[in-house]
Amino acid sequence: MMQAVVLFGSPGSGKGTQASLLKNCLKVPHISTGDMLREHIRKGNALGVRVAATMHAGTLVRDEVVDQLVEERLAEPDAQAGFILDGYPRTRAQAEHLIGWLDGRGIRELVIHLVVDYNVIVTRLSGRRQCPLCGTLYNVVSNPPRVEGLCDLDGQALAVRDDDREPVIRQRLAEYESQSRPLIEFFREKGRRLFEIDASNRTPEALLSQVCSTIKSGWDRPPGLSVEG
Ligand code: ADP
Repeated sequence: MMQAVVLFGSPGSGKGTQASLLKNCLKVPHISTGDMLREHIRKGNALGVRVAATMHAGTLVRDEVVDQLVEERLAEPDAQAGFILDGYPRTRAQAEHLIGWLDGRGIRELVIHLVVDYNVIVTRLSGRRQCPLCGTLYNVVSNPPRVEGLCDLDGQALAVRDDDREPVIRQRLAEYESQSRPLIEFFREKGRRLFEIDASNRTPEALLSQVCSTIKSGWDRPPGLSVEG
């Protein structure tokens, strides 16, 4: 069966961490619009140049741009058995675009909403570090690397993302509140399978086991909202 999973949640809710852990157990690719956009910026190509200022300000890139990016990515051979979307959709227009794409292909998706307390989020985001080489995420408080400042996997010096600085964090959270949070109601209204999981006070591993069991049982659940543990 096609494993189409949408990880939804505020910046700092742990979507990226869960998605990268999940791709090992689901064997489907992790598609992060944020990572794809950052990769274009790193390469310095035309798209990267166009989106750099928007991303550094913590505001959202235009729907048409991300819709196209995702559609192209979903057409790749490795996404044919399924995929984990992380950071998409983030606006109503994107959600409509995705639903149209899925329904047009008869693909059912599960939306997993990672629910996290606002204060926890701010603390997490300001402590976040990322390996510039492999993208692995760490947190100075909750998930430090074995050697301070260095990636466990490749020894690269960890970096603070440009948009993980205080004023930009606030802007990203404001964008989430105004543009993305209303999608929960939208998914519910549209009868999509939506699961809420409390992601505030759990280790990534404990959260992963909850997310995995939700995904396993989720396909047989009736459409609409379910609140998980
Ligand atoms: P986070 O979810 O922690 O904010 P991401 O890496 O998902 O981090 O996104 C970083 C930035 O990339 C966003 O602030 C936004 O500028 C841009 N971006 C990512 N996904 C989208 C999207 N679906 N629509 C518009 N902009 C996006």
